[in-house]
Amino acid sequence: MNATGAPAVAFDRVSRTFGEVRAVDDVSFRVEDGEFFSMLGPSGSGKTTCLRLIAGFEQPSSGHIQVHGVNVGGVPPYRRDVNTVFQDYALFPHMNVGENVEYGLMIRKVPKAERRRQAEEMLAMVKLDGLYARRPGQLSGGQRQRVALARALINRPRVLLLDEPLGALDLKLRETMQAEIKAIQRHLGITFVYVTHDQGEALAMSDRLAVFNQGRIEQIGAPAEVYDHPASVFVAGFVGQTNLLDGYLAQRIGGFPATFSIRPERIRVAGEEGGFGFDIASIHGRIAAITYLGATSRLNVQVDGGELIVVEPNVDGGVAPPDRVVGAEVRLTIDRKHIQAVTDAS
Ligand code: ATP
Repeated sequence: MNATGAPAVAFDRVSRTFGEVRAVDDVSFRVEDGEFFSMLGPSGSGKTTCLRLIAGFEQPSSGHIQVHGVNVGGVPPYRRDVNTVFQDYALFPHMNVGENVEYGLMIRKVPKAERRRQAEEMLAMVKLDGLYARRPGQLSGGQRQRVALARALINRPRVLLLDEPLGALDLKLRETMQAEIKAIQRHLGITFVYVTHDQGEALAMSDRLAVFNQGRIEQIGAPAEVYDHPASVFVAGFVGQTNLLDGYLAQRIGGFPATFSIRPERIRVAGEEGGFGFDIASIHGRIAAITYLGATSRLNVQVDGGELIVVEPNVDGGVAPPDRVVGAEVRLTIDRKHIQAVTDAS
């Protein structure tokens, strides 16, 4: 019944309104088969609603959704070849870990011994070997999320939807789990559609990501593409830190009147000897503040014309030489290929 070569998920001009609220506003995108695709955006931008539309928990107000080439209009959630992992795990507290993981197989009437074998295999994959008989209440947050992942994967759905699955975990654990989830996705070759408001997470995990703002997608691309070539003022500011320049200084260094995005780590603090040339923009300024960040230092530089530019030079390992003190005069240089014109879409 599935068309071969069709994308795993396709949205064609999909909108979903709740009364006056346009939660999803004329959105089109495709997720390729086997892709790790993230939906990134601030709270209320429409990511979860898109996920629920794929799962079948919501219906579009207009537009069409296909899953593996099949129009899913009117198809109930349990008839779609997708499964969902939620932030709050949603485990059955009265069942042990193994029974939670096996649940999908039990529904499909798989014999007990085979269920057990597959559950043990899944638990090994999510690094929970030996915890089959534990209750969810006896697990840490990270372990519970691993159980939820194993439970969602046991029926080998063709598409797995993940809604902020690491939202409840601390930073260190999040980073470990990011790497593990990515490895599992690679290993199984299942399409993952991953919702997050954490830009670092989306950049680290995704093959491609869609940046949402107010129910619309502002940009879709590979992480490096979105980071290095943000399409809009919103994307430049939401994905990573940036300097947004307009006005006189922007025109001088960008060459034409527009808003430009320049990443702090792309700006060099030049010695007098280097950094001149046709491809190099040069700005004079004075250091207004220095913040030590460990791996690097952040400089706030007040440039000619009064604008404040954030600079994170990474060439010197973040160690500020003696002449880099508050009040010191500096010359900033920027390779013009890192000066990115952005549009104000909103
Ligand atoms: P978060 O990261 O906070 O979960 P999100 O980007 O996932 O946010 P959505 O949950 O998709 O955003 O919500 C988008 C908009 O739609 C919000 O303004 C929200 O209040 C609204 N909304 C979502 N579901 C409903 C509903 N069932 N009834 C009314 N409004 C809703």
